[in-house]
Amino acid sequence: MTDDTQEQQITAAGNEMSASFLAAKKRSDATLAKLEENPGKFTMLTGDRPTGKLHVGHYVGSLRRRVELQNSGEFDKIYIMIADAQALTDNAEHPEKVRQNIMNVALDYLACGIDPEKSTIFIQSMVPELTELTFYYMNLVTVSRLQRNPTVKSEIQMRNFEASIPVGFFTYPISQASDITAFKATTVPVGEDQLPMLEQTKEIVHKFNAVYGETLVDPEILLPSNKACLRLPGIDGKAKMSKSLGNCIYLSESEADVKKKVMSMFTDPDHIRIEDPGKLEGNTVFTYLDAFSNEGHFAEYLPEYANLDELKDHYKRGGLGDVKVKKFLNNVLQEELSPIRARRAEYEKNIEGVYEILKKGSEVAAETAAQTLSEVKAAMKINYFDDPAFLEEQIQKFNE
Ligand code: ATP
Ligand code: MG
Repeated sequence: MTDDTQEQQITAAGNEMSASFLAAKKRSDATLAKLEENPGKFTMLTGDRPTGKLHVGHYVGSLRRRVELQNSGEFDKIYIMIADAQALTDNAEHPEKVRQNIMNVALDYLACGIDPEKSTIFIQSMVPELTELTFYYMNLVTVSRLQRNPTVKSEIQMRNFEASIPVGFFTYPISQASDITAFKATTVPVGEDQLPMLEQTKEIVHKFNAVYGETLVDPEILLPSNKACLRLPGIDGKAKMSKSLGNCIYLSESEADVKKKVMSMFTDPDHIRIEDPGKLEGNTVFTYLDAFSNEGHFAEYLPEYANLDELKDHYKRGGLGDVKVKKFLNNVLQEELSPIRARRAEYEKNIEGVYEILKKGSEVAAETAAQTLSEVKAAMKINYFDDPAFLEEQIQKFNE
């Protein structure tokens, strides 16, 4: 498959945004180059919804990148948000699910190498300034603009919300704009499904700055550089791996469960006998190898092939069985996941410590967001009690 056709497939999955996707990918590559040139001047914000444990899609789409960037020293400030308020927009009747997964997500972060000394981990609802910003930004966005958001459209379908969309869910792209701008984030490393959210945020920033004066920072998305990581499919091969779809391999899953899932993964349904030629398109096992494997893995676990291209060629020619490829993928995944699993087990012994990290992080985040909110209110001239000119003006007006 050529590069061009691969990009077209990805954009087809991304709903009607082929031209804008390619433009965004270019901007994302330029952002990465800028980071390397000017280390230390940037602020990162990302987050995850506490709707379940984190899975390998999160890992390749965003988490692995966050840890690399955190350790690169290129960022001045890093904020990582557990988006509980956003999770409630489609889980209003299941607050317990959200509450129980706060700690799971925090443990997954720490297990992957997010370092609380370098990154501020916080809980969204503990920063009420974010909600206030959302309310003001809502005035800058039209209903029809929200209706056009391709990710929200497909999520509405996935959740059978067509006939009864909660208003909060419908407007969550606006609340994401608040999350990003409250921390003056310059850089948002996320999977491809977040592209429409970043576009929405940029529009809000432009509109706000045009109406009220230069106040908000215009953020840039950082997309995964490997195509397979933009939107990792679930083990069923059907759609994006997603907590809500139950097609995940979780970062914290046991060795035996990971192996079971890998061995049951979707491949090429027409590849029945070993000698049959196999297809790579839509073959989830190969997509995962694209996302995870490197030449070192071949040297270690499958030395008869130098790299993935050689393995793919053999599969396409015929004569290579699915079981062999799956066993290799299992080795690759276990190598990546076993240190994560071990670190998680350590942190699980110190839940009080993790709780303190979240509490302290939320306090730091609330201070930063309060500062931005006061700048926003000053720009909108709704800071009546912090603006001595307001009283003067009103006295004069009523005494003319
Ligand atoms: P939910 O089903 O509750 O929406 P989710 O699995 O989609 O959960 P989110 O918390 O919405 O996960 O996403 C968190 C981050 O992980 C985002 O940056 C998103 O782009 C990224 N991400 C999630 N799933 C994938 C995936 N399958 N491939 C690549 N990136 C992903
Ligand atoms: Mg999601």
